[in-house]
Amino acid sequence: MSRIPEGWEAVIGLEVHCQLSTQSKIFSGSAIAYGAEPNTQASPIDLGMPGMLPVLNVDAVKKAVTFGLSVGAKIAPRSVFARKHYFYPDLPKGYQISQYELPIVFEGHLDIELEDGASKRIGITRAHLEEDAGKSVHEGFQKSSGIDLNRAGTPLIEIVSEPDIRTAAEAVAYLKKLHQIVVYLGICDGNMQEGSFRCDANVSVRKVGAPKFGTRTETKNVNSFRYVEKAIEYEIERQIEVIEAGGTIRQETRLFNPDTGETRAMRSKEDANDYRYFPDPDLLPVVCTPEYIDAIRGSLPELPDAKRARFEKDFGLSDYDAKTLTSSRELAAYYEAVVAASGAEAKLCANWVATDLLGALNKLSKDITESPISADALAGMLKRIADKTISGKLAKDVFEAMLNGEGSADDIIKAKGLVQITDESAIIAAIDDVIARNPQQVADYRSGKDKLFGFFVGQAMKATQGKANPDALNRLLKERLAG
Ligand code: ADP
Ligand code: MG
Repeated sequence: MSRIPEGWEAVIGLEVHCQLSTQSKIFSGSAIAYGAEPNTQASPIDLGMPGMLPVLNVDAVKKAVTFGLSVGAKIAPRSVFARKHYFYPDLPKGYQISQYELPIVFEGHLDIELEDGASKRIGITRAHLEEDAGKSVHEGFQKSSGIDLNRAGTPLIEIVSEPDIRTAAEAVAYLKKLHQIVVYLGICDGNMQEGSFRCDANVSVRKVGAPKFGTRTETKNVNSFRYVEKAIEYEIERQIEVIEAGGTIRQETRLFNPDTGETRAMRSKEDANDYRYFPDPDLLPVVCTPEYIDAIRGSLPELPDAKRARFEKDFGLSDYDAKTLTSSRELAAYYEAVVAASGAEAKLCANWVATDLLGALNKLSKDITESPISADALAGMLKRIADKTISGKLAKDVFEAMLNGEGSADDIIKAKGLVQITDESAIIAAIDDVIARNPQQVADYRSGKDKLFGFFVGQAMKATQGKANPDALNRLLKERLAG
């Protein structure tokens, strides 16, 4: 990762467009499902045909308020939709319905975790409701482009951060946290490839200690965490180079090219008043009463930070495990179900879920919701570890077999004869056999070569096909070797 040169500082503010997962569009009854045949999901309202009247989708409002409350923001008692005018082929109305002076959500914040573990607060200036535009389609056309208006009218919130971010790494930490929260809340599917969560990065540079911010550029629609990081790093470096060579930065919109890792100028940036904003006369102001806001506050799910703290406290997990296991709501629910159903130690359950299961899922490119082993099934195996039917070592084999769909833990233990040997006489017999077959090592061990103990453990384990109870084996081996 590139470092910012000594004496320079970057200033970064992010605008995130987050698609709300409502059933229908923000001002019409058309579906918003992704990937439909072009222009099959655009009603006359979405197209802005003359005489059509938009009707506000209350679920979009609820989701915007839900977001605001989750980032400690204020909810406007009265917010207003405005027309933002610009010409674009995928915007047949000639304006986008957005919010301008009175956004529904304002003055919130997000606490991000820095690489050194410290926490930093990033201000959220506002989050306003707006409709998405359509899409120009170039693929499959020659000397022309197609227009697909399925996306027109899809509800978005645009989340605007304060210029509080100072490095590409902080920007990524902020975005990841924001992404996690909207997905936790169930207000956005978070699919970055499909554009459900996309970021415009505003970047400027200045000399450390300079009283004012430098001129910013805005790199549009970057749709992966990695690309955001690269685009910002590229911009910081480019701007510093321009200034050090005696040039100035122009305020402009830029595009990131993932193939080259570079940004290039797209157009110089319009000032806000070029959009000729005015309140949309077709839409009433949105009024959120205190009762309405309180009802939404009361139904908020537990958020990642709170869940993580609870996992540390209630389950005695390390910060690292708690963070991993709360990374998604589904994973956290899976883990809690395993703990509840197995009755095994929470830490043991955490190891199996966070290390073995996630490792296996990673290899299969599956997420927790697609796990071939259900929480109940994994709990069934943990029960057998807890009651000492199988050792942790044998459990690895059982786990593999479960992954391969060979049945429940109990089925597999029975079918493979994996039951742990706790019968001490059987273990002693195996130990005595190993001692008898290795007189030289026994003599060496007894004369002080303690390290050989591991050799005997290995041999005796092997003699029992790995089935000896490890605690009993260790204890009995010590006794027998003592002579
Ligand atoms: P616009 O509509 O022109 O994009 P917004 O107010 O919607 O303006 O967003 C501006 C974004 O740019 C915010 O995220 C803000 O924090 C950020 N920003 C403003 N000034 C600077 C600057 N000098 N350097 C970097 N980012 C900035
Ligand atoms: Mg903007």
